[in-house]
Amino acid sequence: MKPARLLLVIPCYNEEAILHLTYSALKVYYDEIKTKGLIAADSKLCFVNDGSRDRTWDIIEELSEKDKDVMGVKLSRNFGHQSAIMAGLENNINDFDCFITIDADLQDDINAITGMIEKHREGAMVVYGVRGDRSSDSWFKRSTAEGFYVLMQKMGVPVVFNHADFRLMDRRVLQELGNFKEINLFLRGIVPLIGFRNDKVVYNRLERQAGETKYPLSKMLLFAWNGITSFSTFPMRLVLYFGVFNFVIAMAIVVYILASYLVGFTVPGWTSTMLPLTFFSGSNMMALGLIGEYIGKIYEEVKGRPRYIIEKIVNE
Ligand code: UDP
Ligand code: MG
Repeated sequence: MKPARLLLVIPCYNEEAILHLTYSALKVYYDEIKTKGLIAADSKLCFVNDGSRDRTWDIIEELSEKDKDVMGVKLSRNFGHQSAIMAGLENNINDFDCFITIDADLQDDINAITGMIEKHREGAMVVYGVRGDRSSDSWFKRSTAEGFYVLMQKMGVPVVFNHADFRLMDRRVLQELGNFKEINLFLRGIVPLIGFRNDKVVYNRLERQAGETKYPLSKMLLFAWNGITSFSTFPMRLVLYFGVFNFVIAMAIVVYILASYLVGFTVPGWTSTMLPLTFFSGSNMMALGLIGEYIGKIYEEVKGRPRYIIEKIVNE
């Protein structure tokens, strides 16, 4: 069987502290699997600079000058992890047979790549890297992340439990991925929707080797919120349930008021006026806010803006 041409796509945002280390580790590993005949000799590494403010791009350029297997894609500004991945993938779709996306910080164990390629050779079109042991993550990161997967699944988003964006995709899958035009890209939810035969490789999540996380809590929450509202209308339905519940209570209050009136018990009650008023206006606001969230999403999508803008490519 002819070895596949593999492209490894590595999104990088302010990763100067670790880039050399990542490159060396990947290089050694690449050479090894090339010698073993697992991947074709013209397989490459593609570093995508997602608008870093440090020396990340300089390092990528230096690496690409020294090593013809290193390709660099520079985005014109920071577009976010998901868009950076797409930029690296879409721009090389015709030159490779399969693609693996991996974080720049070596948290995804590169040794899992061999397993992914083997599964691909056996016919899997998508191979998900699934985090087995996460004990290297802090308790907080682990529990919020795992809670996130459970919540997503409960809301009907087809995410693979404990799989982030470390995955192999065949070119065929990538071609289909190109037909998902949404700007709010949530790859973990979209890729399972594409279908085709898939498989998993379990690996242990390692510690970030240098630098610090580019996903602070605020960004993580935003990512989760985007993931949910891009995929699931469940929150909207929840508001509907809440609205129905409120309506029933409101009816009960109306009956109570009418009954009080009929029996002549009409104390000019400030409490009974203010309480429902605040309660219902509050819940109305909440419902409106949620609907606004979805309308905002529609607004963003109909504008059809580009997901990313490439400024420069080296070693294509
Ligand atoms: N990243 C990116 N753009 C961003 C944020 C992050 O390209 O706006 C990259 C980052 O350089 C890394 C990967 O996405 O390669 C995952 O980020 P990080 O390791 O900081 O996230 P964590 O593992 O802490 O969730
Ligand atoms: Mg990381």
